Amino acid sequence: MKNCQVSIVVPCYNEDEAVKSFHRALLAALEPTGKSFEVCYVDDGSDDLTRTRLTYLAAADERVRYTAFSRNFGKEAAMLAGLRMSRGDFVVLMDADLQHPPELLPRMLELSRHGYDQVIARRDREGEGLLRSFASRSYYRVMGHFMDVSVVDGEGDFRLLSRRAVDSVLALPESERFSKGIFSWIGFDTTSFTYHNAERVAGRSKWGGRRLLNYGIDGLISFNNRPLRLAVYGGLLMALAAMGYAVWIIVGVARHGVAVPGYTTLLTAVVALGGIQLATLGIVGEYVGRIYCETKNRPHYLVRETSENPGPPAPDPPPRMRGRGSSAYGSGRSRIVRQFLTFAMIGVVNTAVYLAVYSTLNTWIPYLTAHVIGYCVSIIGSFLLNSYITCRTRPTWRAFVRYPVSSLVNLVLSGLLLYVGVSHLGMGKNIAALAAGILATPFSFLLARWAITSGAALSRRPEAVAGSRTGRPGD
Ligand code: UDP
Ligand code: MG
Repeated sequence: MKNCQVSIVVPCYNEDEAVKSFHRALLAALEPTGKSFEVCYVDDGSDDLTRTRLTYLAAADERVRYTAFSRNFGKEAAMLAGLRMSRGDFVVLMDADLQHPPELLPRMLELSRHGYDQVIARRDREGEGLLRSFASRSYYRVMGHFMDVSVVDGEGDFRLLSRRAVDSVLALPESERFSKGIFSWIGFDTTSFTYHNAERVAGRSKWGGRRLLNYGIDGLISFNNRPLRLAVYGGLLMALAAMGYAVWIIVGVARHGVAVPGYTTLLTAVVALGGIQLATLGIVGEYVGRIYCETKNRPHYLVRETSENPGPPAPDPPPRMRGRGSSAYGSGRSRIVRQFLTFAMIGVVNTAVYLAVYSTLNTWIPYLTAHVIGYCVSIIGSFLLNSYITCRTRPTWRAFVRYPVSSLVNLVLSGLLLYVGVSHLGMGKNIAALAAGILATPFSFLLARWAITSGAALSRRPEAVAGSRTGRPGD
């Protein structure tokens, strides 16, 4: 396409459900502007039907182009591929899940006419979970102190870049890319405006807790060596404190003779110093690891096919992917195993919570009342944790009312098993209780899962059952 004015770059990973409505909304927003445009989709190794969908879109409309990776390389790599594909005078980076509303494009293009090289759409935090919002804000506050470039809370990848800004981004060769930092690093005239945070239209977010944490560490380490400097200062400070402590002990010995007590202080100091040394080594290791990656000089991604160079037709997805909601979440079996292990871990945490509440309260109030309060606290905690973490869905009142059923069944079933173990199989009472608890857990897991998710599929979108959430990592 000659004289393309605007390129829209869209990284997609398992966005089969979202990409169609995204494309429709995008065309509806762009066509009235009268600008010539192209849409550069990047399929980041999806294992649902995203790539097939993109081939259809590209076949139907010459303004649509796509690149498909050989596997999932991550959003950073996908954005880089999209920027490399783009030919427009301006490029807009957007997510495929409609969390970056296409209706804002005319405004961004209008602002670019005033000569800005970067127009950033900054989202607010409305509708976001308290915990996530707090974690993101704290992260940005810390980043503000540690990073040499400024990264602003709410400013993500949704932005328009001029051609020279895109060329500057592409000129940076680093393999461990942290785009938010890179965009800030290149500078140029930048403006931003705030928009209302939107929910994902379909599918589910790909940013689980561990991925977010890794992304946060990438951000912290990618742009400076201040953590290393901090480690040096920390080490010096500790050495100084140790010297002071040694002087104090020597003075003490001189005045009162040798005293045997004091091993606690010594042990504490040894453990604290060991921890600091390990953390420091970890920081150094992070940097060394990065140097290692850079020296390997591997490409950021491998291309399977492009719209200009289409490959053979995509094989049918394996049967497990055809089921409801399985595309983005891995196979059904591995999901259930993960959920079960999480459920079991939450069970352990809740038992600890119950014991903590019970043992604290029973010194002040009657022990049975303490038991009831402890039980209620642990049930509520268990319900919330299993909703958010195990089933990755928002808790509802209906689910909350159903939830105690799973505990009741657990109680009855484990009681029955205990009885059978002790009376009929001649097991010891403690061993039988343990075995009964373990055997009953899978059933209470299934029931808890039913309590939390059942009905949600009927009353809400399927993706909500699997847990859509708003926001970008650390946006
Ligand atoms: N994405 C990607 N590769 C990945 C993960 C995500 O291309 O490995 C894309 C995803 O398809 C979406 C965008 O990056 O278009 C943002 O991802 P997501 O919505 O999961 O992030 P969130 O909005 O929850 O932070
Ligand atoms: Mg999203």
